[in-house]
Amino acid sequence: MISDHDQAADGVTVTLTFDFDAYSTWIGTFGARSPSMLSRGEFGPIGVRRILDTLDRYSAPGTFFTPGHTALAFPDHVREIRDRGHELAHHGWVHENPVTLEAEEERRVLERGLEALWEIAEVKPVGYRSPAWDNSPNTVSLLLEMGFEYESSMMGSDFSPYWCRIGDEWSETEEYRFGKPVPLVELPVAWHLDDWPQFEYVIAPGVSMQGVRSPTPLLEIWIAELSFLHERVGSGNLNLTMHPQVIGRGHRLLMLEQFLDFASSLDGVSFRLARDVACDWRQGKSPELPDGAGPARAAVWDS
Ligand code: ZN
Repeated sequence: MISDHDQAADGVTVTLTFDFDAYSTWIGTFGARSPSMLSRGEFGPIGVRRILDTLDRYSAPGTFFTPGHTALAFPDHVREIRDRGHELAHHGWVHENPVTLEAEEERRVLERGLEALWEIAEVKPVGYRSPAWDNSPNTVSLLLEMGFEYESSMMGSDFSPYWCRIGDEWSETEEYRFGKPVPLVELPVAWHLDDWPQFEYVIAPGVSMQGVRSPTPLLEIWIAELSFLHERVGSGNLNLTMHPQVIGRGHRLLMLEQFLDFASSLDGVSFRLARDVACDWRQGKSPELPDGAGPARAAVWDS
């Protein structure tokens, strides 16, 4: 098991990730029927260009989780992300929640996203993030089958990547049964590190998000999390999630730059691509259960 001490040689890294949803989240998640609602996604590519300029200014790489729908709608922006040295990763076809899909539907959605990223940018992504951060019981198996190396949709840790599992079983009456750890790296996420719930006002069927906050509270959270990682833990990765159509607004982009100034002022902190953090972390390791997980209850997959 990897302790904080064992990670010390890796230093502190920050992954700046951007979910380039554009129209897809409004169509696939919120069921948009009006041009006005869709137009919020049309701001995404404007945000992308501003973000790319900011990343240049700080010499910081970014990872852009991009649905196939976005790649086809805004191909020039997607190629520009690639050409300016950043990572393109998979984020569904049109922002479908995998939990709502049968296994074959989910497979087709993954294939369609791969096809679009290849058609537009000739990129075969190694990373995946599920729309709405809601993996289905089939997601990890499908990602392994398709050759992905990491995914970033779960919340079982904060600063340390960990191994995904297949076949966890749970119920209200039986003990928890751990599934089998597999060679797919999880780069954990967290809602409190995500710009969307802080800032986006959304009223849609079954959805009510207040949003519209000052950027200051999120800046405080990001700075405090990085401070804790840097001062108390000593090594690991802070994985931030942003959306170009959200963080690309002027007052929020200025907040991001304040955070980048802070991170840049700390010794031993570097900005990395998500794929590089995942690749470095897995070196010399084999899939295993989380620290302290009851091995007796995992015996089901050993037999
Ligand atoms: Zn998304």
